[in-house]
Amino acid sequence: MDRMGELGAGSAFRVGLGYDIHRLARPEDGGRELVVGGEVLSGAERGPVARSDGDVLLHALTDALLGAIGGPDIGDLFPDTDEANEGRDSSEFVREAVRRVRAAGYGVVNADCVVILERPKLGGMKVRIAERVAGLLGVEIGCVCVKGKTHEGVDSSGRGESVESHVVVMICRP
Ligand code: MG
Repeated sequence: MDRMGELGAGSAFRVGLGYDIHRLARPEDGGRELVVGGEVLSGAERGPVARSDGDVLLHALTDALLGAIGGPDIGDLFPDTDEANEGRDSSEFVREAVRRVRAAGYGVVNADCVVILERPKLGGMKVRIAERVAGLLGVEIGCVCVKGKTHEGVDSSGRGESVESHVVVMICRP
């Protein structure tokens, strides 16, 4: 490792990127209740097909946190083949990722989150989701942004067949 490499490893700031997608299905086809950022989106005709509760935002957030400290990723820690994760509350994944971030000597600075969902629109739920995410991260609400996007009717998300999320987090040494 050269000097610039040492600078990276010991940097006061690091960023992480997380992405996730879940197929959406009607309840009779195995779709669960649609939960995003720990909040149930009532009125959804379809929900995620998943081993856990299928919370796409919290899965992306978990991977962003883990990515910021160099891994492992969510699939390494919580395999969807493990029956222990059946129906599991995804906030537990975030809590474990936050624990690892802190154990590595960092604190969370902020999280910027995008949810791609054709319907229902996130609308007024965005603030509630941001509050919940801020609580999980132990940061002020102003340090979490949740943005809702449609996929303009194209591809699986646009057809209402999937839900996606992208999350970027920054962490720093106190
Ligand atoms: Mg997932």
